[in-house]
Amino acid sequence: MATSFDMVLFGGTGDLALRKLIPALYRAFKDGDLAEDSRILPVCRQQADADSYVENAREALKIHLKADEYCDTLWGRFSQLLWVVCLDITAPDEHWDLLVDVFSSVTERVRIFYLAVPPAIFSRCCETLSEKGLIHAHSRVVVEKPLGYNAETANEINTKLALYFPEESIFRIDHYLGKETVQNLLALRFSNVLFECLWDAKSIDHIQISISETVGLENRAGFYDETGAMRDMVQNHLLQLLCLIAMESPNSMSARNIRLEKIKVLESLRPMVGTAVDKHIVRGQYVAGNLNQVLVPGYLEELKAANSGTETFVAIKAHIDNWRWAGMPFYLRTGKRMEKRCAEIVIQYKKVSHQVYGQQVGEVLPNRLVIRLQPEESIKLVLMAKKMDSLAIKLQAAELNLTLSDTYDSFKSDAYKRLLLDVVENNSALFIHREEVNAAWAWVDPIIDYWRQAKDQPQLYRAGTWGPTAADELLARDNRHWFNAQ
Ligand code: NAP
Repeated sequence: MATSFDMVLFGGTGDLALRKLIPALYRAFKDGDLAEDSRILPVCRQQADADSYVENAREALKIHLKADEYCDTLWGRFSQLLWVVCLDITAPDEHWDLLVDVFSSVTERVRIFYLAVPPAIFSRCCETLSEKGLIHAHSRVVVEKPLGYNAETANEINTKLALYFPEESIFRIDHYLGKETVQNLLALRFSNVLFECLWDAKSIDHIQISISETVGLENRAGFYDETGAMRDMVQNHLLQLLCLIAMESPNSMSARNIRLEKIKVLESLRPMVGTAVDKHIVRGQYVAGNLNQVLVPGYLEELKAANSGTETFVAIKAHIDNWRWAGMPFYLRTGKRMEKRCAEIVIQYKKVSHQVYGQQVGEVLPNRLVIRLQPEESIKLVLMAKKMDSLAIKLQAAELNLTLSDTYDSFKSDAYKRLLLDVVENNSALFIHREEVNAAWAWVDPIIDYWRQAKDQPQLYRAGTWGPTAADELLARDNRHWFNAQ
């Protein structure tokens, strides 16, 4: 039976709440995963916003859900769960009394505070929740990236959160971890002897993890120019995916055991210092170019600035120095304004050790496991097989589709839905622990410091391409190439 809860959405009018959180909660309701006496409390700063909130949320749902997901009748029932609260986090205290009133009659059940607001007001928000006696034993807080700007500032945020919530009640979200294929990847790894035996540097040639975006700065110019791709994408999403790919089998899938294994990976990442940064990392920044046959402006034009050294692209050759992965490279890449939007993990196996066929059968390609996280979610294993329609032996690459999309064609994957329900059920296995945040910054900070000290300038790439040519050269030096999304 689903657990009843109250969820306060601070930042109820924001992009995250309207584009992701409300649609995810609606989906959960539609699928029968929400207890019907639960309450969702979006917080608006302005009374005018609070008055029109429910209608705005309905409009947002229509835009952000798939066409066949929205239904007026269902919305009517779902909207009964919405209790809009008008409150300015930084304004005088009497605003908070409205929230205190809401909770005065419901004291025992799970209480979730989702901080979908700028990190600068996390601390003030938690402090006032505490002063008002709103935090109880079943309270949880959910925070989004960016968690700080470096190890020091992340630590400050985490220390402040820890004043009001114990670590086990703090849920740091990385929505990539809520994706169905990421969980399927873990199921594949840890439930199949086949993969477990073939999951190391002896069998695998290399692993690529790429997250490419087609968007530019959108409305985040100021934030992004301070941040850059290394902090915005590598420190969190790419390193989290790397952890799940590279970690040892945990004793069980408990949050603690998974976290211990992920931290070992982060701590085994070979530190990148001094000139190793130049050798193994490519930074880029886009200039104007054609994206889907539309001319889009360059980074500086979008930023409306004469110059900026911020990277919008990073490609990294990383190593994990442990028994399993010794000597095998992991190539990580992310960028804005790239040719296609795609998040994909490619596990490229080694070539067979001996070719038993002659050249006439065609090229024997190494096996490849391709895990796509977006735009669609899929898992494919590329194998060599005999061409069926020829008498003479000819080989061809064949794809084994592990997504089961035929069986589950009505399945709508929603990472936020999954993660929000995990918060309700107090399952933190797919969330990020404070120690993981520290370990990730410990690897990233020296790289960024080196760039700053060396006054490193990013290499330019045209919008609508796959990044600077130096990123291709990074792999070409190893006789490899990027698997760009088709
Ligand atoms: P946003 O669109 O700028 O929304 C911010 C929200 O915070 C708005 O509802 C705003 O209210 C509210 N707010 C700001 N100051 C407040 C105050 N003093 N009292 C009460 N409410 C206040 O930002 P967002 O994109 O939704 O992002 C929210 C958080 O999630 C940020 O920490 C962001 O870094 C993180 N995040 C967002 C995304 C995403 O996809 N959007 C992805 C990853 C992480 P008003 O409407 O009244 O201004």
